Amino acid sequence: MLLHTCCATCALPIIEYLLTEEKVGDITLYFYNPNIYPEEEYNKRLKDVEKIAKIYKLKFVNENYFYDEWLKYIKKSLPQSPEKYLENSDRCLSCFHFRLEKTIEFAKKNNFDEFATTLSVNRFKNIDYINQYAKKLAKKYQLVYKAFDLNPNKAYKLGLKLTKKYNLYRQKYCGCEFSMI
Ligand code: SF4
Repeated sequence: MLLHTCCATCALPIIEYLLTEEKVGDITLYFYNPNIYPEEEYNKRLKDVEKIAKIYKLKFVNENYFYDEWLKYIKKSLPQSPEKYLENSDRCLSCFHFRLEKTIEFAKKNNFDEFATTLSVNRFKNIDYINQYAKKLAKKYQLVYKAFDLNPNKAYKLGLKLTKKYNLYRQKYCGCEFSMI
């Protein structure tokens, strides 16, 4: 399975679930998040995803960091400037499109049968929309999309617990410059 991974905290409960409950052995963590700003923040999140890949002995792929490309896409897809949108509005839906499209292209090109995203258990995100959009892409590319049957609040708590256990970084904002506080 190719698991699009937004950050270590969101990935941890899913990895635990896949390994222990579903016995999925072959998982590749795919770090594709050009939405993260600035690069220093990107590198902190990247380092921790690499760290958990080592802890759980999973494969890991890091895509290049192209914030400008992400920003161009977001600007093009919205009628107003990105800063005019609140979190969880249309700007975020475009951001999900961008990351999921790249993920499924990578999955197809590299012969994965199944893909999933850690975004789909994040209690702060529009989970239904993410699952629906990913399923639509899966149909188009003839791949299987895995939607997790996990309680987002429980997953969040477990993510925090494991983040502490492994001494990982906890981000203070979603990712892009517009979500910085
Ligand atoms: S707030 Fe988060 S999901 Fe929304 S556009 Fe920014 S990085 Fe993407």
